[in-house]
Amino acid sequence: MLQQVNGHSSGSDAQGRECLGKDLQEFLSGETPLHQLDDLTKVNPVTLETVLRCLQVRYSADTFYTNAGCTLVALNPFKPIPQLYSPELMREYHAAPQPQKLKPHIFTVGEQTYRNVKSLIEPVNQSVIVSGESGAGKTWTSRCLMKFYAVVTTSPTSWEGHKIAERIEQRILNSNPIMEAFGNACTLRNNNSSRFGKFIQLQLNRAQQMTGAAVQTYLLEKTRVACQASSERNFHIFYQICKGANMDERLQWHLPEGAVFSWLPNPERTLEEDCFEVTREAMLHLGIDTPTQNNIFKVLAGLLHLGNIWFADSEDESQPCQLMDNAKGSIRTSALLLLLPEEPLLETLRIRTIRAGKQQQQVFRKPCSQAECDTRRDCLAKLIYARLFDWLVSVINSNICADPDSWTTFIGLLDVYGFESFPDNSLEQLCINYANEKLQQHFVAHYLKAQQEEYAVEGLEWSFVNYQDNQACLDLIEGSPISICSLINEECRLNRPSSATQLRTRIESALAGSPCLGHDKLSREPSFIVKHYAGPVCYHTAGLVEKNKDPVPPELTQLLQQSQDPLLKVLFPTDPEEKSPEERSGQSRAPVLTVVSKFKASLEQLLQVLHSTTPHYIRCIKPNSQGQAQTFIQEEVLSQLEACGLVETIHISAAGFPTRVSHQNFVERYALLRRLLPRVPLGPHSPSEERSGSSPLAEAMLQPLLRDILHTLPALTLATSGDPPE
Ligand code: ATP
Ligand code: MG
Repeated sequence: MLQQVNGHSSGSDAQGRECLGKDLQEFLSGETPLHQLDDLTKVNPVTLETVLRCLQVRYSADTFYTNAGCTLVALNPFKPIPQLYSPELMREYHAAPQPQKLKPHIFTVGEQTYRNVKSLIEPVNQSVIVSGESGAGKTWTSRCLMKFYAVVTTSPTSWEGHKIAERIEQRILNSNPIMEAFGNACTLRNNNSSRFGKFIQLQLNRAQQMTGAAVQTYLLEKTRVACQASSERNFHIFYQICKGANMDERLQWHLPEGAVFSWLPNPERTLEEDCFEVTREAMLHLGIDTPTQNNIFKVLAGLLHLGNIWFADSEDESQPCQLMDNAKGSIRTSALLLLLPEEPLLETLRIRTIRAGKQQQQVFRKPCSQAECDTRRDCLAKLIYARLFDWLVSVINSNICADPDSWTTFIGLLDVYGFESFPDNSLEQLCINYANEKLQQHFVAHYLKAQQEEYAVEGLEWSFVNYQDNQACLDLIEGSPISICSLINEECRLNRPSSATQLRTRIESALAGSPCLGHDKLSREPSFIVKHYAGPVCYHTAGLVEKNKDPVPPELTQLLQQSQDPLLKVLFPTDPEEKSPEERSGQSRAPVLTVVSKFKASLEQLLQVLHSTTPHYIRCIKPNSQGQAQTFIQEEVLSQLEACGLVETIHISAAGFPTRVSHQNFVERYALLRRLLPRVPLGPHSPSEERSGSSPLAEAMLQPLLRDILHTLPALTLATSGDPPE
């Protein structure tokens, strides 16, 4: 009977070892050179430290990919390595009889998914979940995988087919520069940081050619339009316009050289990502013609001028705020570019309309304070930008999405923000970490299930040792009837002035029973702690409810509906049929969807899709926070190993049988042992021996091996497939 054996060789084995072959000796003593260990589950013993050391040694040897059971760990090289991503290498992985025997690479994952999806017996949709912290290489990896599929799915036989495929694939690839120009920004952690989550579904027909794709985005960080942390920047597109516009365009968009915009910090920094031409070209390929592009850029220039509008409190509180002197030109230009009437624009920013009475027929007008005016100005910009982004995604989709009957299977790529923990965490981090908890649960469930099924087929007796189940944490965040999400939503629904302390108290008392809730006694601000699988995170409650409401004063939408600009007319239609669901629900006075409930719904939808696929995981790791090549900072990698749950992954893998050796390989490799080990009477057959087909030799060898070697190796098992230990 095969058993899991933990622990290490005892001293008594040492003598015997001297007689063993070199490769087995190395293997038993853990002396296999670390950089040759292609799978972290083979590191002996499996601890954070050994895993870290292995990754570091491999990194020094310019080996950036390592398997960790069913996960691929990708270290960011922070330097261009063209030969590692060449079309030739893509074809090599594609053509390999067993790509998993080649060096670990994202192309192995790419090829595996492609083979699974084209299986004639049972094609199953595939998904690749790419995670990791900001700057770790998620977007880079997803882009590279998209190129891989574009190369390998192109049929070399039919020229006509080739041309069509190329066009579609090129269009799909062209969605990247557009999405990145509008959705990425330079942050402290990454010069090209994605400020949204993305799931792209690559659609394949029966001939395994890519016929289209569909993009779904999550939680765009729209606040960035109007508010950027010091040393960070706005979305790339604003810089691209300001740097790349020609003389005519500068005149049309009122962007003279050297103009200063408060929403355009750090314009002096020149980034690779500032290339306006690339964005324009990609837009053209995706059916966004030049007049429409110019319309988009004109509206964006209007937003930049909007950001230069500043108010000062009026001495008389009953009067609206004053426009600061230098803001007068800005409001005029902004109105001109957004094709809005100037006076109503100014009035909407400065005066709040309050409706009262049963039918809401009484209307009061209340001048806003300076701070309120600023909030309304920012809100207007966020509203326009978020709608523009969604509209772009829908245009991209309409240009790349295949007809439902022209594709049969798909490969999904998920480029999702990793677990986040900052000194000040708010609703954004709660949503992001909630998503990561869901993905972790999906991962553990899938992996354990897959392993269990495999062991059942092998006829192995097995029970899993403890693994961290994050259900309690998810119950705390999203469970019913009461959870953090439900309490935040309820505060929004009650629409009462709620203080940060009140929310904390409610969470603490209503969810006191949760083992995953904690509080930071030292925190000066009202907060609560969630003990996530990747570590505890302290969330500040100040502003949570307001952020969750994400309120848009109806006057702002009504103002934008008055615009004569063709693009704004599309983004803010007056015809109720064309209105967004939020607006329609607002009209019928149904509960307005909160940020949390919208996010929860989209996350559930995503997980439903993921559950219908065979998932593959790529964990990207950033070897240092400076973005330098050849620099591996242990502490930084260590915290990411913990945060991305790799510890758990390896724990699960190590708790299972990490080494799978086919009988054939085992017999070939260790035949020598037969002479070295004492003969013992043969015991009953194990199911795997029955299947070996090489019975007499295998039996004679396997019994002593099982008795002696299994006690020296942590968790060596015999299985019917897989590689022998290297
Ligand atoms: P964010 O969460 O902020 O969007 P990310 O995980 O998507 O971060 P990327 O933008 O993909 O990070 O990568 C950051 C930078 O690291 C890239 O701009 C690129 O310069 C570099 N990089 C990432 N992966 C590789 C690679 N395999 N080879 C070379 N450079 C890479
Ligand atoms: Mg990214």
